[in-house]
Amino acid sequence: MADLLIKNGRVLDPAAERDGRFDILIRDGLVEAVGPDLSSADAKIIDAKNLIVVPGLIDVHLHLMTGLGAFGADPDVFGVGSGVTTVVDAGSTGHSLFPIFRRHIAEPARTRVLAYVNLSTLGSVAGPGYSTLEDPRLIDEAKIEAAVEKNRDIIVGIKVMATGAALGKAGLEPLRRARRLGDNLHLPLLVHIGESWSNTAEPPPVVNVLSYLKPGDIVTHMFTVHRGGLLDPNGKLWPEVGDARAAGVLFDVGHGLHNLNFDVARRVLDQGLTPDGVSTDGHRGNRAGPVFDLPTTMAKLLALGFSLPEVVKMATANAARLLGRGEEMGSIRVGAPADISILRHEEREWQARDSQSGTMRATQALVPALAIRGETVHAPLPLDRP
Ligand SMILES: [Zn+2]
Repeated sequence: MADLLIKNGRVLDPAAERDGRFDILIRDGLVEAVGPDLSSADAKIIDAKNLIVVPGLIDVHLHLMTGLGAFGADPDVFGVGSGVTTVVDAGSTGHSLFPIFRRHIAEPARTRVLAYVNLSTLGSVAGPGYSTLEDPRLIDEAKIEAAVEKNRDIIVGIKVMATGAALGKAGLEPLRRARRLGDNLHLPLLVHIGESWSNTAEPPPVVNVLSYLKPGDIVTHMFTVHRGGLLDPNGKLWPEVGDARAAGVLFDVGHGLHNLNFDVARRVLDQGLTPDGVSTDGHRGNRAGPVFDLPTTMAKLLALGFSLPEVVKMATANAARLLGRGEEMGSIRVGAPADISILRHEEREWQARDSQSGTMRATQALVPALAIRGETVHAPLPLDRP
């Protein structure tokens, strides 16, 4: 098989503190060298002139039970088809369907697929807004533990829907059970906030939700405009949010159909709370907009004021750490399997659009060029990106 030599790109690898013109030689699917002016007699050349070469991008929140309901997207659409090498399913399945997810979704995918197992046996098979946690019998700790022990290689945490619709009359009892389960399994909780799927259900106050979280747990939808979000009625962050961040709780974007609002984002960022992970919350219902793909979501953070190295770090080193995989992902390492994304960073004007159709002038775009896993090079799927 031909070796690969990526030439002339700007290698931007925040974890390795590398930002500059370097070449990368890949032999037998492993990174053999990173350095200036590498050559190889027989390697296939990938010319990355005017492109940026980054560690394989990681999208930490998507819905990937392919074909399920209005949501389940194919992992390779938001994955290697979008310049992204790792995608993470956010609790599509509970313990009982997890073996099917593993065998029919994760294993055949050309993208690396990781997953949060849902606290509820129903997962999201019933669709959003359903009371998946109200009936206490729908949480089965012993079976979740068994599923986790069989799938430790791909399960990265436990998904909890902290919405009034999901919790119903159970109140915060499911969070208490999730906390204990996470402690027993040494896995973080991924907690959805924001009552985005019901106008009538009452979300638990986010302050009460945060009281169950520990360092390493993740709050997703940090920029939601919906009830149950991080801002109080005066637009100030609840003080407990700062306490949680200081204690090591992590915050993720989770763009999605409902939960990236530019006004909320500006208020949250102005008060000093920055994202640990940037994610699309991608599914079949938002691929054609407003989400599109991870590079477009990253470009929205550029428009909100972050620098390119900061945003690349969120989607690589920080995302890897958030997943507890900082040793194996998030940086380009000599000797490791190639896991690399190549992007076009374009200086041009476009209108970024949030989940409520709010717009913001953007001057930089990020467009996927290639995704490389091992010895395989993946071109992005065609998509009408903004
Ligand atoms: Zn989601």
